[in-house]
Parts: sequence; C-alpha cells; structure tokens
Amino acid sequence: MDIRYWNSEIETIDKKDLKNYQLENLKETIYWALKTPFYKERLASVEITSPDDIKTLSDLKKIPYTTKDDLRRVYPYNHLAVPKEDVVRLHASSGTTGAITVIYHTQRDIDRWTELAARAVTMVGCTNKDVFQNMMSYGLFTGGLGLHYGAEKAGLTVIPISAGNTKRQFKFMKDFQTTFVHATPSYLLHISSIMQEEGYKLSDFNLKKALGGAEPHSEDMRKKIESLFNIDVYNNYGLSEMNGPCVATECLYKDDMHVWEDSFYLEIINPDTLEEAPEGEEGELVFTTLRRQATPLLRYRTRDLSSINPAPCKCGRTHRRIARIKGRSDDMLIINGVNVFPAQIEEIIMKMPEVGTNYLIVVDKAGALDKITVKTEVGPNTFSDDARDLNALRERIKQNIKDAVLISPAVELHEQGKLPVQEGKAKRVIDNRKT
Ligand code: AMP
Ligand code: ZN
Repeated sequence: MDIRYWNSEIETIDKKDLKNYQLENLKETIYWALKTPFYKERLASVEITSPDDIKTLSDLKKIPYTTKDDLRRVYPYNHLAVPKEDVVRLHASSGTTGAITVIYHTQRDIDRWTELAARAVTMVGCTNKDVFQNMMSYGLFTGGLGLHYGAEKAGLTVIPISAGNTKRQFKFMKDFQTTFVHATPSYLLHISSIMQEEGYKLSDFNLKKALGGAEPHSEDMRKKIESLFNIDVYNNYGLSEMNGPCVATECLYKDDMHVWEDSFYLEIINPDTLEEAPEGEEGELVFTTLRRQATPLLRYRTRDLSSINPAPCKCGRTHRRIARIKGRSDDMLIINGVNVFPAQIEEIIMKMPEVGTNYLIVVDKAGALDKITVKTEVGPNTFSDDARDLNALRERIKQNIKDAVLISPAVELHEQGKLPVQEGKAKRVIDNRKT
C-alpha cells in the first residue's frame, strides 16, 4: 500500500476559512495563555482577561512581543498552562548566559507536531516505500524526535540513527538502502567528502532526497549537496520555541517554504522599529502558536530574518511561503546546527581567574563543517608557566565551554595585551563564513 499523509482539507484551505480557523484557535490559545502566571499578568496589562476579548485576528497586535529573555525569566514553570501531570515531554535549549529555556508538550501537542512533520515528509514526496535515516541528534534538541514520529505517522521506515558516527551512517545507508535522510546541510557536505575515503560509491546507495535544516544555508550549498549525492534537498525550518522542525518546509517546487499557518500565526516585523513590515519585505519572523496547549507563545520574536512570499504555489497548498532564512537580528551563532550565544562563552571565560578579560571568537569553515576558535588572553604569571600548564588550561577552557554549550572549540592562549584592543563597542566575534 502506498500510504500518503495528505491532509488536503487543511493544506489547501481557502484564505477565508483559514482566517476563521486561526481566530478560533487564537482564542483557545489565549485561554491556555491565561492559565500561565506569565501571560495572565502580561495580558492583563493590555486588558485581555478572557478569550472573548479577542474579537478579530488584529486584536493580537495589542499583545506585546515575547522574547527569548522572557522565556529565561519564566523558567521553570511560569509559562506552563496545564497541570504538570498533563505534560508528556519537554525540550530545552540553552539560552544566553547559561539560562535554560524550556517548552512543554501535552500528548495533544505532540500529536499535532507529529502531524506537521507527517505533512512535511509527505510534501517532499515520501511514502511508506521510503527508508528514512534520521541523522539529526535525538535528545533535548528537537531535530531528531521532531521528525521521527511524523515520519512514522506517514508510514516511512524510520532508522533513528541520530547524528555523528559517519562510518555507521554509510553502512546503514548501504545495507538498508536508505532513500531519505534528515540532516544539517553542513553534515551532508561533510559526509560526502569522506564517502570515497571510506571506499563507498554513490551506486552503493539508493538515496533520493534529504530534508536539510537547523542552520542557515545558501541556495548554492543546496545545489552542491544535490549534485554530490545526486538527490533532491528540501529546506526545512523550525525552532524549539515553535516545537522544532517543520514550522515551514519546501514543497516539491523548492521555491520558498510553506509555513503551516493553521498552527503558527505568522507576522514579519522590522527588528529596529518593531513595526509590521509590508508583505514581501524582509524582516524578523514573529510567530504565535495556534494549536498548542502546554506552552502557548504569543508573538514570539524568532530573530530570524526572512520575507513572506504571498503568491499561490503550484503545489496547491494555500499556506503562505517564507524565503530561505537570510540571517539573524541578534548575535546568535549556529555552529554545525548548535546554537551558541557569544555571551555564553564570555561568561565561562570570565569565571576563570587565570584568564584575562580580552577575548575573541573566530568562526571559520574547516572543510564542510564549522570550526570555532576561542582566543583569550592570560595573565603574565600564567603565561610564563611551562607548556604543560598552558595545555592543561587550554583543555580546561575547552571542557568548560563544551559542558555549557555543547561545542568543542579550539582554544588559543595569548599573552596579555596581544589580542587586538577594541575601541568603542568591542567586536568579539569574527564570522569568516559570511565572507
Ligand atoms: P533550535 O531552537 O535549537 O532548534 O534552533 C532554531 C534556530 O535554528 C532558528 O531560530 C534558526 O535560526 C535556525 N534554523 C533552523 N532551521 C533553519 C533553516 N532551515 N534555515 C536557516 N536557519 C535555520
Ligand atoms: Zn508548494
């Protein structure tokens, strides 16, 4: 049987019905939001004390934006809308300066997210004939589990192999004739370069397509991966605050990503003025959850820059599309799919008395992967120590950073005064990937 998960009623809903559906769900979202101490207070400040205070979708615009900082402050439970016993899962990511942000899900939330992921894999043409190797990490990060259940629901055979261990990835791809993978684009480029080294040829595999996401990548990068593996690669966008992957996904036409507008109310704003940007213009994506119970989020500022493509799509889906993510309106770095705020690294360095105050974070490409180097000054006493001590210090810095932000930087120690002195606002990050 050729099962396809295609919810045509909702995926091709007409604009007017969609608006009504959104309004109904927005009211329900307000109902849940009012159950949280955080939103109860915030909504009261704009005189919303009941879902009935929302009469039209534009009433949403009275509500202040929610930010990542808000999510840090509400930790752990001030934004939870349901009794704890109704929560079946949480996902968490580290925010700035070590604070954790957490999103809770009820079973209904998980089922709805699963449905979005099922729509996404079906939208890129997968069926129950596909063998799906999920190369995104399983765990608190949403990339692994997010796609997992959706792919099962759409009938695919799922291999939950997770990220890393390239040799084993190749073995599974060959032995089980994997047709579809989900990975960060940089990981796909990385494994393509070691395929030959490992003695594999493309003809050993049966790979047909990939979903690439979790990090910014260009159209050229997509084309490169497509030609290296002779496959189709589809862009898939998401963020843990909006469940995770499958907030917006490309269809077979690969022409911008359909946002599931029944589940996420989409706004685009100018990040400087915070005014709504005219449709089609670039700005910051702002989302409101429309179908989530445990952690409703109202007007969440993603910091991701994109634009809306309102044109009808040839695939027939009516949900509007957004362009490939252009960048961010904050300083968050994405290193091989892992989010890192420079302030997190700063905090760690500053806690170590042996280390001076001047530091620099340099990001480069090492082959296909991102490489991060933390350069920091150490005091004259430390620097005159012998090489073994310096090595030990380097390792300690590296380990502390790894423990906190889950990436392993290269660490360079410099004598005090040897790193360039910053005049005015210090530029602590040099991202050479952009040039
Ligand atoms: P996380 O909450 O850890 O899943 O990280 C979410 C962030 O990853 C988003 O806010 C984006 O900055 C980035 N991201 C996810 N998917 C994509 C994509 N397809 N293209 C560009 N950036 C992405
Ligand atoms: Zn389409």
